[in-house]
Amino acid sequence: MAGLFYWNGEIVFHPSPSTVRHFFDLVFVGVGYNGRDQSFTYSKLKYRNHASLPPKRVIRSMKLSRTVVALFLLQVLLLPMVAVAQTADINAQIRKEGMENSKIMHTLHVFTDLYGPRLTGSPNHVNAAKWGTEEMKRWGFDHVALEPWEFNHPGWVNDRNTGLMISPVADTLTFEVLAWTPSTKGVVTADAVHIVIPTTLSSTTPPVQQQPTQEELTAYLNSVKSQVQGKIVLVGKPSSIDQSREPSPKRIPDEDNAKRYDPDPAKRTAGGPGRPNQTPPTPRPNALTGAQVGEQVDKFLLDSGALVRINESQLDRGAVRAFNNRTFDITKVIPTVVMRNEDFGRISRLLADGTPVRLEFDLRSHLVPEGTTSYNMIGEIWGSDKKDEVVMLGGHLDSWHSATGATDNAIGCATMMEAARILKAIGVKPRRTIRVACWSGEEQGLLGSQAYVAQHFGTFESPKPEWAKFNGYFNIDSGTGRARGMNVFGPPEAATVLRDAVQPFSDLGIAGAINSSGRGLGGTDSTSFNAAGLPGIGVSQDPIEYFNVTWHTNLDTYERIIEGDVKASAVSIAAALYQLVMRDEMLPRFKTEDMPKPPPTPTPTPTPAASPRP
Ligand SMILES: [Zn+2]
Repeated sequence: MAGLFYWNGEIVFHPSPSTVRHFFDLVFVGVGYNGRDQSFTYSKLKYRNHASLPPKRVIRSMKLSRTVVALFLLQVLLLPMVAVAQTADINAQIRKEGMENSKIMHTLHVFTDLYGPRLTGSPNHVNAAKWGTEEMKRWGFDHVALEPWEFNHPGWVNDRNTGLMISPVADTLTFEVLAWTPSTKGVVTADAVHIVIPTTLSSTTPPVQQQPTQEELTAYLNSVKSQVQGKIVLVGKPSSIDQSREPSPKRIPDEDNAKRYDPDPAKRTAGGPGRPNQTPPTPRPNALTGAQVGEQVDKFLLDSGALVRINESQLDRGAVRAFNNRTFDITKVIPTVVMRNEDFGRISRLLADGTPVRLEFDLRSHLVPEGTTSYNMIGEIWGSDKKDEVVMLGGHLDSWHSATGATDNAIGCATMMEAARILKAIGVKPRRTIRVACWSGEEQGLLGSQAYVAQHFGTFESPKPEWAKFNGYFNIDSGTGRARGMNVFGPPEAATVLRDAVQPFSDLGIAGAINSSGRGLGGTDSTSFNAAGLPGIGVSQDPIEYFNVTWHTNLDTYERIIEGDVKASAVSIAAALYQLVMRDEMLPRFKTEDMPKPPPTPTPTPTPAASPRP
């Protein structure tokens, strides 16, 4: 219900019809007022037409009416106080449970330290999901499950790696293996060579690298073919990272955040914790795409008998970000690593001097055939009178393989499990069913959540029965920063419900909620719901060091989680969840005539290498 909130000494009064009606159900039961059918049934009040009554009865009736009116007014005046007390009490309980008895860091610890990394299709991911269901069972959830969907690629597990510089000096190299690439054939030792695919700088500001034409690429590869056989091949220029650049702010100032979530769209500023700003390059006439170049270079190295391919990380301070071989087929590529900027730069400078560099690699990985089927992890707390209506919340449990995937996104799953656990622990009996969902396949293109939405809900254009009963899906997937606001796919009234729900938690940093209407698939799983015309609710967060440090890198570990922030997020989300599962009306959704159109062409699902997702 939209609420009456008492916080920091201020009473904010937002009565809703449902609140009022519920209260009357409660207080008028003694005199026979039936709030549900809006009729008085008390026998003394059955004469409504005073003209038909004898004078004494009219007077008595009028006295009675005055009594009822007085009682009515008294209740209306008492109502805010009772509702304030109830809402404030629930909110206080949510806050206390979330801050004092939190399980969030323990859940995070198990997902990361025991089961990380959790690449889609890997046994680690399945084991983490199994543990998550068992944990929710221990918390008293009514139903847990691993729901399968077809990934259609075998799982891939990296077992161990070594990489050394043998000469001109001995050193250990820092790198990560690209996922779904093969092992070396035992220990391989060979000279390094460096190739740089020709690119052209655009005339735009800022200039961007543009891909070669087919003729340029073929000519270049022919010119280096004899050099790469039996060699370890560095591919691409080392990046130069400007150390004088200002680091991006870790927290959004309160006043900026308030503007982003201003209830008045005219006063709202765009923005939000930004994703990396990538200007799409203007293609040259006849230029190949990056994916086409990549595919041809992979085939060239395989056909030419190169031993190992080395890419550069494009990050500073030893960070490495490694995705996957875009084909998911280990027979299409040679063993491939992503090396830290500093080692790659050193080797390329030595080679440019004319100094031979000898390297040694031992890369070991294996495929997991049963990984072709992956699983979404589900946990439910069943509702009561509206059990068939569902409110969902979740994040993705799968991670990339270079670290234990703490900020992306074990903490998202831990936060949503915690928000549901908080309501269970304080004894809430939800009217609607609460369903936690931790997806897999997010990093490969929102695959798990899309499969789930298709299977359970269908779309606005082709709905399944559950589509109409859906009451929102909260998603969190931007690292460790505390929740700062919510964005719901739906009409402005949907944002109002959420704004009112989180308003008492503004001291924890959450500013409110706004609505949106885009149905394109985006950077995270809430957009799988939006695409189907369902109310996905994206939770925005303080950026901290997500995009510039931990996002998909070898630095994404338990240590990067800020406990106070993630507890605050769980509390804010639990409060919003409580309102959605308890209110009389469903979360407002687009009416049939207002439903935005899906994007004109089906949104392609880019390969992760082309368009990485958070
Ligand atoms: Zn993510």
